[in-house]
Amino acid sequence: MNRETVLLKDWGDDLPFRSLSVPPHRGSTLLFDTVAAFNERHAGFYDGYSYGLYGHPASRALEKAMATLEGGARALLTPSGMAAITLVNMTVLSAGDEVLIPESAYGPAREAGQGLLRAMGMSVRHYAPDADVGRLFTDRTKLVWIEAPGSFGMEMQDIPAIVAAAQRAGVAVAVDGTWASPLGLRSLDHGVDYAVQALSKYVSGHSDVLMGSVAVPDEARYRALKDRSKALGYGVSPEDCVLTLRGLGTLAVRLERQAGTALAIADWLRSRPGVTRVLHPALPGDRGHALWSRDFTGAGAVFSVVLDRSLDANLPAFLENCEIFRIGASWGGLHSLFAPAEMKALRGTPDWAETGPLVRICIGLEAEADLRADLERGLARYTCAIARAG
Ligand SMILES: *Cc1c(COP(=O)(O)O)cnc(C)c1O
Repeated sequence: MNRETVLLKDWGDDLPFRSLSVPPHRGSTLLFDTVAAFNERHAGFYDGYSYGLYGHPASRALEKAMATLEGGARALLTPSGMAAITLVNMTVLSAGDEVLIPESAYGPAREAGQGLLRAMGMSVRHYAPDADVGRLFTDRTKLVWIEAPGSFGMEMQDIPAIVAAAQRAGVAVAVDGTWASPLGLRSLDHGVDYAVQALSKYVSGHSDVLMGSVAVPDEARYRALKDRSKALGYGVSPEDCVLTLRGLGTLAVRLERQAGTALAIADWLRSRPGVTRVLHPALPGDRGHALWSRDFTGAGAVFSVVLDRSLDANLPAFLENCEIFRIGASWGGLHSLFAPAEMKALRGTPDWAETGPLVRICIGLEAEADLRADLERGLARYTCAIARAG
């Protein structure tokens, strides 16, 4: 079955109220008719119902949907994408262990490495996204993270090569596959152990839900995650699950339209004055295009541009005066957004060679012609210094 069709499956098919949507069931306390049933309630911890925090009909339905879409045995929900990343770290790592995180990873995931993990006695090593990670493993390395493409810098990573090296060394692999969504990247098909999604982005899709998921290839990994999730006190609200299930139904059409517009605009931006470089792995000629073509089945609608450094004083005039594009960080919704980034500060390494200002562009569902016109006027404001100087 095509994944577009899978998205529309009846995820609440075990509920007594048989409708096409899954209703939110609110409840902390569950009731039991007998002492014996009460004493046995923990039997519902991994699969059924024992306490509102550990699962309710909408969360079980969304877990089923995410496991199916990611091609995993099980999936588990977390209160945010960042919580999913933390959950994997807390499940796989113990004091004394080392985790490898790419320089290009989502900022808070990198920073948490500096803070929380180190405070807990784990060591964190950042690596260049194109490094030969097999050479970096030590006896203490237990987990390597992959994020492709990287946040802001859009660097691709060689997922099969990293997985092969990690498997040889007995190191677990976690992939943050938020950019492409499960429609564009099925991490588990590449042999990774943990497939993380920030559902806050494309899957929920309307910029009004915060949630994450971790899909895994087997029951044992799921149970270990679920145990840690209990210790961390994680839970997700029924309404948020219902909104995310609603988003799933339109994920394929939204992403197809948004990614198509994004690719066309990215290609057009390559020849615009003021634009030094366009970073989008689905664009032929991009440094990551070969890896993207080989390993992905689709693209996200987020890419970055590097602008002419000599005009960077004009950046606010460009970004603040657009009619359609707004300035905001969390992408994946219906609206087009800009997010400027201080790459030197973000990366903290000499790896980032571009010197002009970088702007991440997230493309929404607006008409392509209107978005182009908005960008055209914005770039005219950016480059006006040239016109004046001339
Ligand atoms: C947004 C994002 C996250 C974090 O998701 P939240 O739900 O905002 O915590 C993690 N990884 C990537 C790649 C993201 O873009």
